[in-house]
Amino acid sequence: MPHTRLTDSDITIILKKKGIYVTNTRITVYRTMYEHKASINTSQIQKLASAKLDRVSVYRALQAFRKKGLIAEIPGTRGWPRYVLTNTSAAEVSDKTSRVNIYFICRSCGAIEASKTFRSLAEFVPVKLDIYKAELLLEGVCSNCSRN
Ligand SMILES: [Zn+2]
Repeated sequence: MPHTRLTDSDITIILKKKGIYVTNTRITVYRTMYEHKASINTSQIQKLASAKLDRVSVYRALQAFRKKGLIAEIPGTRGWPRYVLTNTSAAEVSDKTSRVNIYFICRSCGAIEASKTFRSLAEFVPVKLDIYKAELLLEGVCSNCSRN
């Protein structure tokens, strides 16, 4: 699939908009995640990044991204979390007051799909709480992997 190449200044704008302090490491981490297009863990980011990154810097970048809602942390198998950008068009729902992010992760290839299907949180939240955001993780096998 053709993919727009993000320049350093594109990424700087994205990070600044979210109130994230911009460093070269953070730009590289963001680009790596953007180009990977699937959920990713820390060591994959280090492997795939165009520049050499140390683990602590990657970890700090991810924590900063997560605090500002730029990425979502997905509990991975064996305790290693995986991360995915939340600002993809599929994950972003225009109605921010009742936002439900639904992620599907393939256990076999790690592919991730983000979508929303619920019009209202009330459709699946059983109790009356003032919830303004929800993340739902579905795990299974994607259509590509089940075909093989
Ligand atoms: Zn798969």
